[in-house]
Amino acid sequence: MSEPLGLFGGTFDPVHFGHLRLAEESIGHLGLAGVRWIPAGQPPHRGTPQVTARQRLEMVLRSTAGNDRFSVDASEVEAVAPSYSVHTLERLRGELGAAQSLVLLVGADAFAGLTTWHRWRDLFALAHIAVSHRPGFPVEIASLPHELATEFADRRLPDAGGLRTAAAGGIVTFAMTQLAISATQIRKLLANGLSARYLLPDSVLDYIELHQLYKNT
Ligand code: ATP
Repeated sequence: MSEPLGLFGGTFDPVHFGHLRLAEESIGHLGLAGVRWIPAGQPPHRGTPQVTARQRLEMVLRSTAGNDRFSVDASEVEAVAPSYSVHTLERLRGELGAAQSLVLLVGADAFAGLTTWHRWRDLFALAHIAVSHRPGFPVEIASLPHELATEFADRRLPDAGGLRTAAAGGIVTFAMTQLAISATQIRKLLANGLSARYLLPDSVLDYIELHQLYKNT
């Protein structure tokens, strides 16, 4: 079986070093061929309407440029209707074939909310899930909703080796450098006219300044 491919979805509003380290460290920890970033399309009920999906995509493109293990999938941004992760995974599974191991990368907070995702149980037939530690969000059975805790206990792989022996269905955790950075914090800093420097790449900050983003969130 070929090397597993990481899939990293998010709003990236804006992308920051927490995201970049998660993607970078997952390659080494999990033995991935690379990471495909998948910025979400515009969620109907989310704040920040002055930042478009295309601008979020542009920031992801800028921050990932120059890393040949990273690629960016613009399909959710370009879709007319809101797209769910399960649909994106079905499409990628169709494109890449049944044998390709796929690993959905999520932070511990996103994983804890998995049961709210559209058709969440179907995700396991399409990909493995790798959960990274994030400050403030322990990855513990006790802190997960009951249904997810059961899946976690049943599917947990002892190590990343299992990501190579099956194309989907396992759950692994990995400890990344703990960075208590969030897009919420960055939006707040910028809205208050404060510096967000060193929380995200300069290339992204330059883009934010150029387009006067996050001024009134
Ligand atoms: P917001 O503050 O707007 O909710 P966010 O910083 O959590 O945004 P998202 O785009 O929602 O960023 O996150 C995309 C993915 O990256 C999620 O799986 C999330 O758990 C993970 N992630 C984001 N920031 C970190 C971080 N600092 N450490 C580990 N994982 C992170």
